[in-house]
Amino acid sequence: MERQIVVIGGGPAGLAAAGKLQEFGYDVILIEKQAEVGGHLNKWYKVFPDFTDASEIVANLKQSLGKTRILNNATVTDIAGSAPNFKVTVSTGEEIDAGAILVATGFKHFDAAFKEEYGYGIYDNCITSVELDAMLKAKSVKTRNGKAPQKVAMVHCVGSRDEKVNNNYCSRVCCTNAIKVSIEIKEQNPDCEIYCLYMDIRVFGRGYEELYRTSQEKFGVQFLRGRLSEAGEKNDGSLLLRLEDTLTAKPMRLSVDLLVLMVGMEGNSELADVAGLTVGCDRFYTTAHQQYSNNASQRQGIFLAGTATAPKAIVESITDGRAAAAEIAGFLASDRVFESSLNGQLVATEMATSLK
Ligand SMILES: Cc1cc2nc3c(=O)[nH]c(=O)nc-3n(C[C@H](O)[C@H](O)[C@H](O)COP(=O)(O)OP(=O)(O)OC[C@H]3O[C@@H](n4cnc5c(N)ncnc54)[C@H](O)[C@@H]3O)c2cc1C
Ligand code: SF4
Repeated sequence: MERQIVVIGGGPAGLAAAGKLQEFGYDVILIEKQAEVGGHLNKWYKVFPDFTDASEIVANLKQSLGKTRILNNATVTDIAGSAPNFKVTVSTGEEIDAGAILVATGFKHFDAAFKEEYGYGIYDNCITSVELDAMLKAKSVKTRNGKAPQKVAMVHCVGSRDEKVNNNYCSRVCCTNAIKVSIEIKEQNPDCEIYCLYMDIRVFGRGYEELYRTSQEKFGVQFLRGRLSEAGEKNDGSLLLRLEDTLTAKPMRLSVDLLVLMVGMEGNSELADVAGLTVGCDRFYTTAHQQYSNNASQRQGIFLAGTATAPKAIVESITDGRAAAAEIAGFLASDRVFESSLNGQLVATEMATSLK
């Protein structure tokens, strides 16, 4: 079934890949675990760097899906065979023949409860960046007693660049996300004081540095190079933060009404066994080669895209999805697919012989 391709995961990477593949003339089946496609974009409000509405991006990607068949509330339970003759078993029981498979199953959030010293799950007014986005969307950034906060602190690198939780990598999006949400809070509540507690500011993409400057010059967001050691709750529900100003090496205290933890990304390797994929020490899927074959997996005919392989911003995930589509088309048109098919037959023959 060389003309049929299975895409697993309907986030920006999977949607972009599916759109491109059907444009190339393939029959695409998109398998998505949730009731709706869109991935994490369904949770976001306006996204950095340009404050585009996340729903607009999803709508745009959905428009290019053409005749793609979407299976919602479904996942993959088995992948048998080899390219171009994979047999994919879906959780619904359906079996699908596929010439190639794309895994675009995205990322998971770091569970902030692992950083006990910050008080997530213990203090009412300690929330994550995911919960803050929902509040911004509802235009209702409030403390748990229903008041508009007067002071908010954003803690960068929660669950990233942290040996204690075994995540040494940088999640790449949370600095710019902290800047974006700070601006949005100021737009909705101009009197609110905002402090970003950071280790380093990593704003690397087009328009990101400008956003960083705007947040300071136009909105007065304050950046403190500080390491939060712990948060404690006061009688009125506000939080007392103890931190070290790492520029002056002096201890500091800061009282805030709302503490926002900028949670990092973690690899979603739940299909590793089913798909026969390898996972790196960072727990994201490994690719055939990080430099020149970064969409191929270690199993021939199975490809990878988006944040399944590393933290990425939306535009990078979309571009990566389209790059994977081009890789798949190239693979199916090449001699490699026949070699793979031949190897599959040889393995089948060897197995049949050894079973006799
Ligand atoms: C707090 C936060 C805020 C962010 N804000 C921004 C921003 O403002 N701007 C920006 O550029 N980037 C932002 N990002 C990054 C952005 O969310 C990602 O770049 C993007 O979501 C990655 O897309 P993806 O398709 O790789 O993965 P995802 O969005 O994670 O989509 C993966 C899809 O696969 C599905 N799936 C998972 N497992 C299975 C399975 N086993 N079977 C079937 N389906 C499965 C999921 O349900 C999901 O629909 C933010 C990230 C975080 C953590
Ligand atoms: S992007 Fe910023 S907040 Fe996120 S892990 Fe990297 S340095 Fe930390």
